[in-house]
Amino acid sequence: MPMPKPRVIYWFRTDLRLHDSPALKAALDLKPESLYPIWTWDPHYVYRARVGPNRWKFLIDCQNDLSQSITKLNPHSKLFVVREAPQTLFPKLFKAWRITHLVFEKDTDAYARDRDTKIIEIAKEAGIEVVIKTGRTLYDPDELVKQNKGKPTMSISQVQAAGAKIGEIARPIPAPKSLPDPGETNLDFGQERPLKTPDINAIQRNGEENSYSTLAGPNGDFAAPTLEELGLKPATTPHRGGETIALRMLSDLSDNEEYTATFEKPKTAPTAFDPQATTLLSPHMHFGSLSCREFYWRVQDIVDKHKGTASQPPTSLTGQLLFRDMYFGAQAALGYAFGQTYNNPNCRFIPWHLPSDIDTSTGLITGKHLTDSATAQDHFQRWKHGRTGFPWIDALMRQLQHEGWIHHLGRHAVASFLTRGGCYIDWERGAEVFEEWLIDHEAACNIGNWQWLSCTAFFSQFYRVYSPIAFPQKWDKDGDFVRRYVPELRGFDKKYIYEPWKAPVADQRKWGCLVRGDGSGGSSTSEDGDLLVYPKPMFDFAAQREICLQGMKNAYAVGLRGDDKRVLDGTWRKLFDDSAEGPTEGESGPPGAMVAQEDRGEAQQAQDETTTTTPVPKTRGSAAGTKRAAGQTTLDGLVTRKKKK
Ligand SMILES: Cc1cc2nc3c(=O)[nH]c(=O)nc-3n(C[C@H](O)[C@H](O)[C@H](O)COP(=O)(O)OP(=O)(O)OC[C@H]3O[C@@H](n4cnc5c(N)ncnc54)[C@H](O)[C@@H]3O)c2cc1C
Repeated sequence: MPMPKPRVIYWFRTDLRLHDSPALKAALDLKPESLYPIWTWDPHYVYRARVGPNRWKFLIDCQNDLSQSITKLNPHSKLFVVREAPQTLFPKLFKAWRITHLVFEKDTDAYARDRDTKIIEIAKEAGIEVVIKTGRTLYDPDELVKQNKGKPTMSISQVQAAGAKIGEIARPIPAPKSLPDPGETNLDFGQERPLKTPDINAIQRNGEENSYSTLAGPNGDFAAPTLEELGLKPATTPHRGGETIALRMLSDLSDNEEYTATFEKPKTAPTAFDPQATTLLSPHMHFGSLSCREFYWRVQDIVDKHKGTASQPPTSLTGQLLFRDMYFGAQAALGYAFGQTYNNPNCRFIPWHLPSDIDTSTGLITGKHLTDSATAQDHFQRWKHGRTGFPWIDALMRQLQHEGWIHHLGRHAVASFLTRGGCYIDWERGAEVFEEWLIDHEAACNIGNWQWLSCTAFFSQFYRVYSPIAFPQKWDKDGDFVRRYVPELRGFDKKYIYEPWKAPVADQRKWGCLVRGDGSGGSSTSEDGDLLVYPKPMFDFAAQREICLQGMKNAYAVGLRGDDKRVLDGTWRKLFDDSAEGPTEGESGPPGAMVAQEDRGEAQQAQDETTTTTPVPKTRGSAAGTKRAAGQTTLDGLVTRKKKK
């Protein structure tokens, strides 16, 4: 009997593009009789992963653009968005569409691995052949780990060494010129509706979530859901998704050969906007609307033919892509443990404020946190909502919330401020806010960079703290960035733009904004008529910095990692005395986390803090840190500015 011709589901997930898709090529190489390009609308992301309206919008843009591109190649085809969890949907789809093969791009995120293991099992049971290809990163993260002696990749030089063993990064594959018909798209089966609770994204909604009304959507046309169907608040980001836009952006970048060949990340201004100083291709990398190899080779070819001195990894553009692979390699080796301190052998244990709540039966963080200090909780909320009273920090956090993207050194500034260089709050809280608001949120990169910035992994020079005043001044003396994102301060003289609380009250009045309060009333008009209000700084930065340094120094001296028995069973408390930052007294409490305790009031807190300000020597030799990895000096260095032309 002749073999039946393949009937293939191509499952889009991390690869919303047609160009350079090794998995799509593998699907087409099967010469299918029918090719079904599908997206499964997975309730995990709708209800259980933090995603704000801006990232939803970017995703939907990417899906709509891809669908149109598919239809251009074959008017009978499109991206078929099917609204059910893949685990329950696939067995039904396999039967209904008489599928022989399932093809997809490999995803090494912790949740995705679990999901895919299950799907592979289901496919096997149904007699379906599964084809999986790497395409999301320059190297297969599992292969990187294997070539790094089975260990997580923790530096660029490790990625380069492991990469050299794997071989040259593959050249991109052109987009297909045609696509096979999809065949019948009947859905003669019931829909398994997901449980709507718990809904971690409830705060993102102002309407009812209704995206699971039917399998093929309200019009039966397999369209991607709209923000309205998701009950989401309106998106505010100016950044648009889709392969068409991504390829145009890459083309504009490569037209600017000088910029591309000489790009050095530490010389790009975090205060630049309109245009920003870096490529802003990260959300396209996240959704796969741009292939990382297309990006890499477009840049490398320009570098190779550049007449002058081209930049090199780690600061060059290709170096940035290697950083991305480094974090994917670290995540691939550690799985869920990578995303938390608890049970993570690579992560230093530091008794931060607002530690994660841990489910000791699974060893995983629950997504909730303990409020060990009402002051820290207040600081966290003020940081999150851009009301710290430090205009540089507030401008960045407001840009993040509104636009979903901030420059890398801006991310450094706010991450350092929240953790070891200001609030002494757990990096996991910051990573959650970024997860909610970034349009480029990439679990591996977000987690890894938060660990880097908080000096819990990858980087250890905790005595290098970003000042919210001196650092932005190096880039933007006039404070244009602050004026853009903190409009209350628009009229302030540049002398006070980063320290508005120092301006004489008469001048504050003249410039239309009074510096007072904690910002909880918003920037609304004060009782003085037309004047705006901007909050006072939430603490004395210099004093707080010293407290943090002392805490870090102490935690480094104690030297625990997240998988230390004493972290797991909670006896770490015996090792931290009261001279460290924060309340650590008491020997009982939940494992891995600080003792939940009553707030002792601001006055008492202030008194505690003044007793813990022992100055820390600022010499480099004083930190009990690990060896410095290549690129660390320059990456967050405070060096001369370079604007995108
Ligand atoms: C606390 C913190 C959290 C971060 N969270 C994320 C995240 O969730 N997703 C994300 O993609 N990046 C994250 N980054 C890394 C980096 O800030 C962004 O990738 C970068 O700013 C995106 O802008 P761009 O595309 O203009 O970058 P460019 O400078 O133009 O770099 C080109 C590409 O290289 C990659 N890249 C650059 N820097 C890094 C880096 N440090 N780590 C990993 N990849 C990098 C990105 O894909 C980026 O698009 C984070 C950084 C910090 C400090």
